[in-house]
Amino acid sequence: MFKPIYKFIIIFGLLTHLKSQNNNNINFNKKCQINFSNQESVICESHDWGYSYQDLIEDLNRWEEYPYVVVDSIGFSVQNRALWEITISNQPESSSHHRIYIHARTHPGEEESFWVTKEIINILVSNSQFAESIRSNFIFHIIPMHNPDGVELGYPRENANGIDIESGWDDLVLQPEVSALKNRFIDLMIPVANPIKVALNMHSAYACKRFFIYHDANGTSMNFSFLQQQFIMGVKSYFQAGFENWDYFISWTSGTPDQYPESWWWMNHGENVMALTYEDMNCSFAGSYDSTANAILRGIFDYVGFNLSTTRDSNINGINNSFLLNNYPNPFNQSTKISFIIDQPYNSSVNIYDISGKKVKTLFIGKSVLGKNEIIWKGKNDLGKDVPSGFYFCSITTEAGSKTKKMLYLK
Ligand SMILES: [Zn+2]
Repeated sequence: MFKPIYKFIIIFGLLTHLKSQNNNNINFNKKCQINFSNQESVICESHDWGYSYQDLIEDLNRWEEYPYVVVDSIGFSVQNRALWEITISNQPESSSHHRIYIHARTHPGEEESFWVTKEIINILVSNSQFAESIRSNFIFHIIPMHNPDGVELGYPRENANGIDIESGWDDLVLQPEVSALKNRFIDLMIPVANPIKVALNMHSAYACKRFFIYHDANGTSMNFSFLQQQFIMGVKSYFQAGFENWDYFISWTSGTPDQYPESWWWMNHGENVMALTYEDMNCSFAGSYDSTANAILRGIFDYVGFNLSTTRDSNINGINNSFLLNNYPNPFNQSTKISFIIDQPYNSSVNIYDISGKKVKTLFIGKSVLGKNEIIWKGKNDLGKDVPSGFYFCSITTEAGSKTKKMLYLK
């Protein structure tokens, strides 16, 4: 729902943007030519990077029809475009729901990050029991377009003042887009009983990869570096083939920088907020934005300790549902029983991976039986040695797809 004053702005915005109406179907051919050099450098002839401010207004008008969506603005850009925020929750004023913040398109040319964000929104507003369960336990705040001027001007990274607003969070005079987002973060931290727990900053990188930018312990803390590994590998566990390991891109190895949003989070809220930049450039895997969004959401739920067990295995957005994988007990010491139920006698392999993605044990290779299969893992690697305590992933791969389960081994 729109607050009345902004409803007016949207209607006004629609009247002033009558030129390009037929853009509900996004033309992917309009996407920019990417120069895969060592920088995020992008060459693009289209003026709006394939998804304009007007496209956003049309989506906002659609999303605001849902009773559990609030559309509001957090401020204005240099050229006075509203910075729209959508809030999705059954109780947006709840003081106990988990609060999550996601902002996208600070860099206008990196529109892949927006497609992922849009799929996250699509899941959150959907009719499913899964989405209903999320809305009953979470408040999601999402900024789909943090830099609308840059989008309209066709700038790859800058705002209308020609400044890259991904940095400059430590400047004395802030850019209006930076100031608006920072003030919003401040409003949703100390003054509320349920502050933001996860803050994702959505970008798109130069290679055909999906990954999070990990902050080394030298720029954070040992504990936070572990929490990041847990979060990143947790997300990956829901889309193994899609995401890179936590150590694919390591930053802050020589200390904490102070110009980025994540710098601000770390310096003001430390280990309390999992603030990460996400980079998406799925290239030939285009179309997997829904699986990506699903994995990010499920990783968030695991991270904040929200139990989705009743909906965990439901078939949402391409997650293979032809078999179930579980282990019991979990956490475990000494041994755990891994069971999987399949609907065809597939050629299968079951492997154990550590948190860095390294395979530690092959438990099974061969044709699994129809129905329930059970294997005991006693916490030993392929050499028969005891593995250390910590998180492990059990993964089953068959012709029909793969599935992964996170396990905690405590000695
Ligand atoms: Zn970027």
